Parts: sequence; structure tokens; C-alpha cells
Amino acid sequence: MNKILENKYPYLTNFFETAISQNRLFHSLILYGSNNYIQYAMALELARKLNCLEDGNTDCQCQNCRWIRENKHPAVMTISKIDNKTDSSKTVISEDQINMVLDTLVNSSDYHRVFIFCDAEIKQLKSEEMTIYQEFKTTGYFPPQENSEDKIWYPSGINTACFSTVAANAMLKSIEEPSSKVTFIFLTNNKDDLLQTIVSRSQAFSVPDSKTINYEVSAFEKYFASYPKFNKETALDFAQCLLNYQNDNNLEPKYVIDCVQYYLTQLAKTNSSNSVLMNIIYKDIEKTQNSKKMLDAYIKEQTVYEELGFYFVKR
Ligand SMILES: [Zn+2]
Repeated sequence: MNKILENKYPYLTNFFETAISQNRLFHSLILYGSNNYIQYAMALELARKLNCLEDGNTDCQCQNCRWIRENKHPAVMTISKIDNKTDSSKTVISEDQINMVLDTLVNSSDYHRVFIFCDAEIKQLKSEEMTIYQEFKTTGYFPPQENSEDKIWYPSGINTACFSTVAANAMLKSIEEPSSKVTFIFLTNNKDDLLQTIVSRSQAFSVPDSKTINYEVSAFEKYFASYPKFNKETALDFAQCLLNYQNDNNLEPKYVIDCVQYYLTQLAKTNSSNSVLMNIIYKDIEKTQNSKKMLDAYIKEQTVYEELGFYFVKR
């Protein structure tokens, strides 16, 4: 994965690498948070991993990797109110654009097609936007449109104003019954800015902001000493340990789950050649995704941690 993304979002890049290597990445992904350029770079990087003709390495120079970094690949399309337009609408992703997307899926392709949905404008960048844009440019990643020096293409989060219910609804069938080798990626500031029917059919990932986050795993590492076996007696201790860790350090419960997820994705990285173990690790990672959904549904964190502990014992 791109080094900037690997440094800033190790658990996300680990997760995606694992999911792609297991051929288990969802067909519809939502990346949400306030830094839309980071999300955009993450989406491009996923497209590159999905299309690389070699081993997906960060520095790979195969044709697909080069084209995707330069944003010139025919199968990787940005869909916004100013990108890949098929009609004269200027303020929305139109139904016509969605039909164009769906039409391209009729024919099979050797490529893994990736459609990145976002809002975008060509504008004068604020200094922090310019920094992130330049940072990715130095690693060879370009936006979908050529820029003049003072006005630059920059993404923002999609919402119901620029992606209407009608246009979003036209997507639903393809998200529900996707053709093989296609991935839809929606960039948004907040999941609530997207049609609920899309959210419920997608896997959603928080991309917090651009600062580096450290995932501290030492508090609970010992419970995984005989992984993938997980001791029944220790399931409750594990849950209590997560709760103490949260309370002692005044942490968000989701961050605590992120730490567990990060730990599992590190395990995946070091065990990538063991397909049986990878299968278990991947299911466990999916389970942590589910733990975050439970937290979203306001289920008490103690219940969520206990449920996770007992899942490790039972599976
Ligand atoms: Zn490549």
C-alpha cells in the first residue's frame, strides 16, 4: 500500500490487503470522515491493488499500477458532478451518469472495475488541502483532471444534495447483485449523508483524519497467546481488560475495537501464507467490524466486548 496511507492508517491498509488477498472485499465500500483527499487516495490505492498485474507492491511499475496512480486507467472512474459527465447537469451526479456506469458493466472486462463516487470541484486550495495534495503527488498519485497552477481538482464528501435519491436508487440493484470484478467506493463525510439503502448494503470504514494514530495492543495481547484458540475462562477477562483500557485512558469504544482489529490485521500480515489461519483471521476481523456496528446501535460497550470475547471462544 502507498506509504503515506500505511503510516497513517495501518489497520485500514492491513484490513484491505487481507480482504483483497482473500478475495473477500465487499463490492460496495463507504469511506467516511473529514479528509476526503485521503479517502480518494485510499480508493485509488484499492483500485491499484485490485488491478495490479504483479504482486501489488507499493512501487510496482506494471501498466495498471502506473495508469491508476496517474488516474488514466480506463476501468477506474471517478463519478462526480464534474467527472465523467454524460449530460449538461453541473450540480449533481445525474441519473444519466449512473446509467453510463451500469452500461459499462454489461460487457465483461479483464480489469477489475472501480467506480469512485464523490463530490468534487476545481478550486483554489487551502494550505492544508495543498499539503495533502502535494504529498500524494510526490508519491505519484494524481487527481482525475489536469489542473492549472492556481486551481486544482479536489474531492469532497458525497451527500444527498449532489447524489439524489433517484440516482442512488438506480445503483441499488448493481450493489445488491454485483457483477464480478466491480467495486463501488463512496466517499462521504458522514454515513448519514448517503441513502440508508446504500449504507446497509455496503461495508463502511472510518478514515479519521490525517494525523497518525497509534494503535496500542499491549493491554490485551496476552489473551491471544494461543490464537486462534481462545480460552473460555479468559473471554470475560478479555472483555474486562478492554473496558478497563477504555476507562483508564478515557478512550472511545470504537478506538478500542480498532486496536483489536489492528492486532488481527497484523496477525494477517505475518500469516499471509497460511490459508487456513487467514480464513479464521479474516472472519475475526469481520466480527470486529460487526462490533463497531453494535456500538453504532448504542449497545453498551461492555456487552459488545463480551460478545466479541465469546465469539472468539465459540468460532
Ligand atoms: Zn502492478
